[in-house]
Amino acid sequence: MSTETLPSSIPSEVSEAQAMFPSIKVLTSTPHFLIATYERTPYTRIKMTLTFPEGYPSHPLIVNIDQDAIVPPGLKKKLEKELGELVRERAMHGQYDQVRVVWERLTSFVDTNMFLPCWKELKKCVDLVRTSNNDTSSNDRKTNMKASTIALVESKGKIKINLHNEAYFYNCTIVIDPAYPDYSPATGGKSCLLQLQSTNFPSTIQTLLTSQAQEIVRRMQEGLSQERAMFMSNPIRLPKNFHLNKEDDTSGTSRALTQETIKNIKHDTETLKRVNELRKKESAAAKITMSNGNGGYQDHKAMAKERKDARRNIHKLTEVEREADQKLQEKEKEWKLEEKKRSEGYYDLYNTMEPQPCLYVLVKFLVDKVRGLVEEVCPCCKERVLPDDPNELISMYGPTDKNGSDHPQQKQHHPKSTKKKMKPMRTYCGCWYHKSCLNTLLTEPPFGIECPTVDCGRRVFHPDWPGDIRQLERDWAAREARKREVEDAMLFL
Ligand SMILES: [Zn+2]
Ligand SMILES: [Zn+2]
Repeated sequence: MSTETLPSSIPSEVSEAQAMFPSIKVLTSTPHFLIATYERTPYTRIKMTLTFPEGYPSHPLIVNIDQDAIVPPGLKKKLEKELGELVRERAMHGQYDQVRVVWERLTSFVDTNMFLPCWKELKKCVDLVRTSNNDTSSNDRKTNMKASTIALVESKGKIKINLHNEAYFYNCTIVIDPAYPDYSPATGGKSCLLQLQSTNFPSTIQTLLTSQAQEIVRRMQEGLSQERAMFMSNPIRLPKNFHLNKEDDTSGTSRALTQETIKNIKHDTETLKRVNELRKKESAAAKITMSNGNGGYQDHKAMAKERKDARRNIHKLTEVEREADQKLQEKEKEWKLEEKKRSEGYYDLYNTMEPQPCLYVLVKFLVDKVRGLVEEVCPCCKERVLPDDPNELISMYGPTDKNGSDHPQQKQHHPKSTKKKMKPMRTYCGCWYHKSCLNTLLTEPPFGIECPTVDCGRRVFHPDWPGDIRQLERDWAAREARKREVEDAMLFL
């Protein structure tokens, strides 16, 4: 800039700077100080106070950056230091250009630093990833473990994260949208764009992990709190009859009917068994009657007593079951109420709140999951769910593991190997089980069991098994009945 265009007083310097930077909003301007803000988005804004000291412009401008929700103390210090050096350098020339120089530097910083709206969160993320390497137990499996890393590309708003735990790894990038924590359609509408780069988790697990992480981002940019976003992002959907929805207001009667049905089914199975026994006795008695030819009056009386006893037994049996059913019914009611509360909270907040900063939540989710998954213990057998060797895990899912589908009914023609039995499966509550452990838990009474994991206690559900207690009961009763039929048949052979 040539000398003749330079202003010669504070007011002319300020008005020239304002003309050059119309996007900077001047709130207060006096010959002694100036308060202004620069805003890239509503969430990326810096407020400053510039004070003209005695002897300005030979003495440097005093630059104060406001500390607020966007500018944490660390950033305030960093900016004030940089700008201070800049104006000290300009003061040596003694010209009225320090406001312009400060604004130039500040606008370019705000415009090019995509991390500004998540500065605080980002620092927490860096600390989290770095400390995740330290707090390990005295575990042999960890001795040769690669460290997790985090790297930043400021101008692109890109974060590269490599997460390692034992032999497993999950490498990804996260790109911060310029409008963060809001999103701009130009960047695919994600406030944080998570992309998986490489991993040695099988694709089913990758998908669970990545898609849930992306869901958390989506929910939070819609204004959901961290807790609700985590809950709503659960990739496992509950079956319809699991929910206490609005139609369920009349549930008093329908639920009673349901329990009645369960009772009847059990009753039917048992009754059939007793009726069978009775028939056998009748036919035996008939043979005796026919052989001794006394008209059978005494025998009929005895048979009537026997039938009465049988009915009494059936009644006793159903009474015990009724009590068990009632307990189950109360438990189910609790679960449904819990579901209802959560979903109501969600709808209350939906679309009524500001987009929520989600970067730290996202990174913490990934760090916790990658670590948690590797160290997860099966709630049934208390053994680790994942094998030490990632290749072994991939072979458990088999070569068909492409789209993350896993339906046992489609695979029935395959011989059941130990590997398949030990395959990890994630239930609705978020816990991981061995497939065979989960099968036992879900298909044998007591039904509708709570997850045995400490602090979990939610109902165990996996979409590959029926979620309806009635159906599980029915399936079990049918299997039991078949078993008895076989036993009965054996007796006649
Ligand atoms: Zn197990
Ligand atoms: Zn659980």
